[in-house]
Amino acid sequence: MKSEAAGSAAAMSVADRFGIGPGRHRRHAVDLLEALPAIEAGARAGRKPREVEVFGVCGERVTLARKWGRYDYGNRHLDTRRCERCSWIIALHHRTIEQEIACYQPDSVDRALILSGGHNPDLLPKLIAAVLDTHQEQQPDRPEPGLVSELLAHICRHRPVGVMCARCWDDGLQEAHGPQAQVCPEAVVACWACTFIAGSWAGEFEDTIGSCECIVTSPCSVLTAVAAHHAIGTTAGSGTAPASGSGNVHEH
Ligand SMILES: [Zn+2]
Ligand SMILES: [Zn+2]
Ligand SMILES: [Zn+2]
Repeated sequence: MKSEAAGSAAAMSVADRFGIGPGRHRRHAVDLLEALPAIEAGARAGRKPREVEVFGVCGERVTLARKWGRYDYGNRHLDTRRCERCSWIIALHHRTIEQEIACYQPDSVDRALILSGGHNPDLLPKLIAAVLDTHQEQQPDRPEPGLVSELLAHICRHRPVGVMCARCWDDGLQEAHGPQAQVCPEAVVACWACTFIAGSWAGEFEDTIGSCECIVTSPCSVLTAVAAHHAIGTTAGSGTAPASGSGNVHEH
C-alpha cells in the first residue's frame, strides 16, 4: 500500500501536484500527494471519498473536486473564489509570482474607476512587490502557510473592486444611463473584504454587495497601512503613469 502511494508520488510533477477543493466559500489547492493516498486508504476501509477528511494547503476542510483538474492559472474553475491563502502558498512554492501578481492587476474598467476616484490603480501590485522584496529570504520549501503567504493573502483580500449602481445591476448599463454610457457614473470602488458582500443566503446575488449600508471604499486602511509602511503613494499619478485614455470616464 505504501509503495503504491510513493510510486504515484514520484511520477507526479510539480504542476500536477495540486488539485482543487471547494470549501465553505472559496476554492482551495489540495496537495494530491497527501489527499490521494488518504482517499485510497479510505476506499479500502469502505469510505466514500467525501467522507475522507481532505484539507486545502491553507488548512481549510474541503472536498476534492477530481473532475475539476489541476490547480493552475488556466483552470476556469479558479476564475472566481480562488482562496487567496492557497494561491499565495502555491505561487511561492511554484515560483509563479509574476502570474500571481497579474491576477491582482485591475482590468480596464476598474482601472478607469480607480483613477477617476484619484487613487493609484497599481497600488495593490506594488504593495505585493514591496512585501515580497522585504521578505525574500523567507522562501518556504513546503507548500504550507507562512508569514509571507498569509500577509500577502490578507492584503489581497482587501483588493479594490468596481461596483456599479443598483439600476445597472437590474437593467444593464445602457438602460440605466443611456446608450452612450461606457461606465456606470455612480459606480464606486469598494474594498472586497471590508465591504459587506452577500453570502450564499442571497441566492443568485451571492458575491455581490450585500447591502448599500456597508460599502467601504478602497483603498481601505489595510492597504493604506501597508502603503505607508513601504512609502508607496496611494494617489493617482504616484509613481506610475496613468493608462492612456482612462481619465474622465467618471465625473462627479
Ligand atoms: Zn485555501
Ligand atoms: Zn449605474
Ligand atoms: Zn479592506
